[in-house]
Amino acid sequence: MADSRKLIIAIDGPAGAGKSTIASRLARKLGYVNLESGAMYRALALKAIEWDVSFDDEQDLLKLAHEARIQLEPTLTGNRVLLDGKDVSQRVREPDVTEAASRVSVHPLVREWMVARQQEMGTEGGIVMEGRDIGTKVFPNAQVKIFLDADPVVREQRRLAQKKMSNAAAQVSFAELRERDQRDRTRAASPLQPAPDALILDSTRMSEEDVLQRVEEYVSARLDTAGLDVPRLDAAGPT
Ligand code: C5P
Repeated sequence: MADSRKLIIAIDGPAGAGKSTIASRLARKLGYVNLESGAMYRALALKAIEWDVSFDDEQDLLKLAHEARIQLEPTLTGNRVLLDGKDVSQRVREPDVTEAASRVSVHPLVREWMVARQQEMGTEGGIVMEGRDIGTKVFPNAQVKIFLDADPVVREQRRLAQKKMSNAAAQVSFAELRERDQRDRTRAASPLQPAPDALILDSTRMSEEDVLQRVEEYVSARLDTAGLDVPRLDAAGPT
């Protein structure tokens, strides 16, 4: 039976807003699992590239999704992504896959399939899931929803800063980032938008520490409101 004391925390927002860092740090503090839903779209996109399936062919993409074995393995440094048993964690961050993920994710049937898989991952609670539609579609009943946003220029600069650490992120051009943003926000199926009950946090002028602190305060308040006995945020997280 699901442990009702273990929450679901949804973190949504555009690329470069700092979701991954905040989600993984929060998950560690709570002893929760951090799941990057975008990595699943990336894995399917990679499979489409490998099997030469058109990013515009919804039916073929759905068929591919049914055949694909996509696994996320949370680690302290992010999710390990397995596609059909193969570790594709690095490959899915490369620019061609990034672009393809943005395109395959517009299709309603693909999204339906993804949402169902993501909901299965959350049945036990105790997760921080990040993405674009977690608070609106995947877990509309999540106890904590955060929408993390930032000015596009700042997000682009953060991407550039990541360049030193991640080759894939480094190669993403500003124009492409804006195009993907636009696609996410304007698609008919589950466009990127805050859930009505989400805390909207604009991190444009905030440091990572400031954002984390604000998020922690918010989560604490939500836990208190719900009268839930869950790991305290000031407790040491797993090492
Ligand atoms: O978060 P990440 O950049 O890895 O996501 C890759 C792409 O997958 C995004 O550009 C977005 O189009 C799509 N995505 C989505 N819904 C999610 C997560 C990601 O549409 N929940």
